[in-house]
Amino acid sequence: MLEIDGLRISYRGTEVLHGIDLRIEPGERIGLIGESGSGKTTIGRALLGLVRPTAGTVSFEGTSLTDLDRARKRRFRAAVQPVFQEGAETLNPRRLVGASLADGLTAARRFGTAQTRTVDELLRLVELDPQFAERRPSELSGGQRQRVSIARALAVGPSVLVLDEPTSALDPTTQAHIVDLIEALATDEQLGYVLISHNLAIIDRLCDTVHVLRQGEIVESGSRSQIIDDPQHEYTRRLRDSVAELLLD
Ligand code: ADP
Repeated sequence: MLEIDGLRISYRGTEVLHGIDLRIEPGERIGLIGESGSGKTTIGRALLGLVRPTAGTVSFEGTSLTDLDRARKRRFRAAVQPVFQEGAETLNPRRLVGASLADGLTAARRFGTAQTRTVDELLRLVELDPQFAERRPSELSGGQRQRVSIARALAVGPSVLVLDEPTSALDPTTQAHIVDLIEALATDEQLGYVLISHNLAIIDRLCDTVHVLRQGEIVESGSRSQIIDDPQHEYTRRLRDSVAELLLD
């Protein structure tokens, strides 16, 4: 459904992705792991059509994002939604939560998604009381804000989420609750996702397929159990050993 082929991306003449290949099938739960600066966020942004490849392609249902006609572009916008740390970039700090969610529902209609939910239903879906509609993002805890940003993404009716470090800014207990929520929603809503994280414990809980990124290249790919229980690459072993003490229950 989404495919990356030979993707290279440069920032101001410096190449940071050196030929990435990746396929995302409907419902697939993919993890991208690697240390800070390895290029995970850049892959996520490329999947959302937010950065332009310097070489290679990102395609949606077989067509390069740069060649999508208007109808397909709308379908793509609805189908692939981001969730960043604590709603960064997706929640307007000046707008009430209810208004941001209503914007998402309006976008869903514009994109032609069959979305029948209301703002109250979206809030309940992420286990928040409908009264939260009357608050601004600054009046929420980090965990509540992340629930709202997930609801905002779901409002548009996506089939794939790009989750970029969705729990990194949260304390461990709240992290665990958000991980549970993502897992439950993925099952109930039949969502696939690309989860970007430097935390192997979270990838272990949430992903079926894992790609290990180092300095703009994928050094190892495999099923969750292959990568976590039997890593082949020295770099993957180091990543695993560095988080061993943080593994969630
Ligand atoms: P990660 O998500 O794994 O931490 P990023 O994709 O954010 O990695 O960054 C990969 C590389 O690209 C890093 O060297 C980073 O400094 C660089 N980079 C990221 N965004 C920009 C930007 N907007 N301008 C210039 N360099 C950038």
